[in-house]
Amino acid sequence: MINVDKIRADFPILKRTVHGKPLVYFDNAATSQTPQVVIDAIVDYYSNYNANIHRGVHTLSQEATDKYEQARIKIQHHFNAKEAYEIILTAGTTDSINRVAAGFASLLNTGDEIIVSALEHHSNIVPWQMLCEKTGTILKVIPMLEDGSLNMEAYHNLLNDKTKLVFCNHVSNALGTVNPIEVIINAAHKVNAAVLIDGAQATPHIKPDVQALNVDFYVASAHKLCGPTGVGMLYGKQEWLEKLPPYQGGGEMIATVTFEKTTYAGLPHKFEAGTPNICGGIAFGAAIDYLNSIGFDEIAAYENELLAYGTQELLKIEGLKIYGTTKDKTAVISFNVNDIHPYDIGSILDKLGIAVRTGHHCAQPIMDFYKIPGTIRASFSFYNTKEEIDVLVAGLKRAVMMLS
Ligand SMILES: *Cc1c(COP(=O)(O)O)cnc(C)c1O
Repeated sequence: MINVDKIRADFPILKRTVHGKPLVYFDNAATSQTPQVVIDAIVDYYSNYNANIHRGVHTLSQEATDKYEQARIKIQHHFNAKEAYEIILTAGTTDSINRVAAGFASLLNTGDEIIVSALEHHSNIVPWQMLCEKTGTILKVIPMLEDGSLNMEAYHNLLNDKTKLVFCNHVSNALGTVNPIEVIINAAHKVNAAVLIDGAQATPHIKPDVQALNVDFYVASAHKLCGPTGVGMLYGKQEWLEKLPPYQGGGEMIATVTFEKTTYAGLPHKFEAGTPNICGGIAFGAAIDYLNSIGFDEIAAYENELLAYGTQELLKIEGLKIYGTTKDKTAVISFNVNDIHPYDIGSILDKLGIAVRTGHHCAQPIMDFYKIPGTIRASFSFYNTKEEIDVLVAGLKRAVMMLS
């Protein structure tokens, strides 16, 4: 059982006020808040052992290297990767996807097909479109259904022996839909296509096991997992990481350099050119420790309670429509009230200290599907409470009254 009062005390930001009102933070799907232990890890790094990592003979460099590589091992264990070197530390989900897409540019040919889902974040669409322009590869789309799930029958029909790669999010950031990634992965493997799963929105709620999933690539961002911005991970199966060419050239990623020929370093360094976000990587590890100290089963159970309560209370508001109504959802509620513009409601809620996100949530194709400009999205975390949901519902009623 979650002790929410105790948990809230771990997050300094939750004590602040906004426009004189206690902060109600319901924008967790955009970024999560940071607990004191993670802030402490950042302060400790810069206060006590800030140094560049790898190849340093001095003590500070060795301490920083040890802590950074320990963080990689924490991430490896958390995702149950077989090897630590299958975890590449990146700048985040977007960066991870771009690294894989750039690598595939040399593996794909004109007429090859790759498949995307209709539920993707722009960061899992645009890099692939850029790849298609370069290689003449054809992009196919798994359509979505009215409830915010994927049309799986259509997916099975899209797969064929020209399919080289399938990419899909584990959880939709705009709607909260949990996608049947096991089915997606297994079906893709039957035609020998690789699969990349965007876990940015799933990882705050679900602890994925990359070996059990048998996924080829899995990517995530630390800042949605109570960690800092500007750092994330790319899990890749060893065989795939070896097949892909390096993403960037520079220091750290080489074995030997002469002007005639450079040989590349082994994994993971081949994909980590230059000085990485050392402090961010270490803080990412601290964030994973923190979440595991609470427990993902406990987090999921409590957030499901918030989702059920929030859904029930919001639906009491006349004219409110929820987008994304599948049974298997994370604690994201995307909605509109009558035809009031989401931005107008969001602005009034802000004056009441309530942070929600409004707009297309970097998923314009979903908004086009529903023929709406955007939604209001309230996304809950394990540090939110039912009382805060009551504040949102009261605020919404007030906003609707003012705008109708
Ligand atoms: C947030 C998010 C991204 C982008 O993550 P960045 O940290 O901005 O790179 C991609 N996909 C999904 C599903 C997301 O929720």
